Amino acid sequence: MREILQYPHVDLMTSCKEVKEFDSELREISKEMWRLISSIEGVSGMGLAANQIGVLKRIFIVKCLDGTQMTFVNPIWEADDDERALEEEGCLSTPHLYDFISTRYQNITLKAQHLSGAKFEVSAYGVEAVCVQHECDHLDGVFWFDRMPKNVRKHMINKWEKMKK
Ligand SMILES: [Zn+2]
Repeated sequence: MREILQYPHVDLMTSCKEVKEFDSELREISKEMWRLISSIEGVSGMGLAANQIGVLKRIFIVKCLDGTQMTFVNPIWEADDDERALEEEGCLSTPHLYDFISTRYQNITLKAQHLSGAKFEVSAYGVEAVCVQHECDHLDGVFWFDRMPKNVRKHMINKWEKMKK
């Protein structure tokens, strides 16, 4: 049984591979991710990327604000404009830590594939846009701490080390 990996697991620093086979294995991975995100108690997780459960494939899931469950395969996003988001974010690989990342965009367009391989495009803004940027970073092996200014990053790592004990 898989579990959500915690910082600083090496898979969290590893870039994921493009999904080429839209098969039952991929559907199982997605199912397992939904099972894990729903099983966490006391933390509200909005998104989860495959490498957070040790699967190095470009797939992530997002629980939208209206409750819709979305699965994104091979996602690519771009910013619609220069507006920056002011949303607090967190990560299931460092639960109970929250902070603002100043470089996130407020309005984005995301292109991805469904589990079937069918392509689709969606717009996201605010907290959902931030979530998508956070999850896409995961797939590139970029942890949210890496997006923080050096001193903040150091502070967060120290905080996390103490919390883990
Ligand atoms: Zn995360």
